Amino acid sequence: MSVETVKLTGKPVAEHLRANIKARVADLNERNIVPTIIIIRVGNKEDDVFYERSILKNCSLLGIEGRVEELPENVSMEELSKAIEDANSDENIHGIMMFRPLPEHLKEREILEKIDPRKDIDGMTPGNLEKIFEGDDSGFSPCTPKAVIEMLKYYDIPLQGASVAVSGRSLVVGKPLAMLLLNENATVTICHSKTKNIKSITSQADVVVVAIGKAKFMNEEYFTESSIVIDVGVNDDGNGKICGDVDYDKAFGKVKMLTPASGGVGTITTTILLEQAVRACEMITDK
Ligand code: NAP
Repeated sequence: MSVETVKLTGKPVAEHLRANIKARVADLNERNIVPTIIIIRVGNKEDDVFYERSILKNCSLLGIEGRVEELPENVSMEELSKAIEDANSDENIHGIMMFRPLPEHLKEREILEKIDPRKDIDGMTPGNLEKIFEGDDSGFSPCTPKAVIEMLKYYDIPLQGASVAVSGRSLVVGKPLAMLLLNENATVTICHSKTKNIKSITSQADVVVVAIGKAKFMNEEYFTESSIVIDVGVNDDGNGKICGDVDYDKAFGKVKMLTPASGGVGTITTTILLEQAVRACEMITDK
């Protein structure tokens, strides 16, 4: 049997958030403050350069100054640490974003610990992750899990008391998302590659979030007609097109609501980064 699936797109969510960001940037400008971020990029990975361009474009649309510190692939721990320390101590920089993963010769955790948590707009430092686990919303969240929460809230999907199955337990998506959902009073089940019979868990959940990095892995058999499915996955479908971790064509018409791989959660992430940049600026400049 088929149902009328509602396609949950990210664009209106991002637009809603951007209107709020613009108003707050205008308030800061009135005090002669321009929110400013620095992107620290080690090497020249195509994905990083692509994301960097998108961040810079969005910065200029929102009145945020975006700077880039480009470091060579073979940068030393000392040089990278110095770049971070300079950004930490520069009072005109309010947010720091560093691409990851870093090249293998660099000790990533040691580097992350050097970023001032007040400027950690990508929610990468141990201190900010700890706050999420403590249910303290004064810190910064990794952007993708926050984008999922904003998507669910914008479309008025009730979380309090809802059962949510999160597939994937990485530190950038699955784990912090599970904690953010718990903070919204959802009942959360985390699934991973060793979970037995995932279908029985996903098909009983009100909301299913999929972040496993496996192209079109979950088809309609994982869901029911009342499932609300948020697909975080971004994969190459083998034909040069982007696809999700959910088989969109198979699930569409079989579930209540579904996000597309292109134009879904990913559309919101950069806006979350910049909202956190403005919040960092407000906090640092003591608004
Ligand atoms: P990751 O670090 O590779 O983690 C994948 C997680 O999925 C792991 O916890 C793994 O379990 C679990 N997993 C793998 N196969 C599974 C299976 N068959 N059943 C259940 N769980 C399984 O990936 P990630 O960085 O979290 O990213 C996940 C997806 O989100 C990727 O497609 C990525 O491209 C996408 N993503 C999108 C955005 C965005 O802005 N839209 C941002 C970041 C990531 P184990 O822990 O047991 O190995």
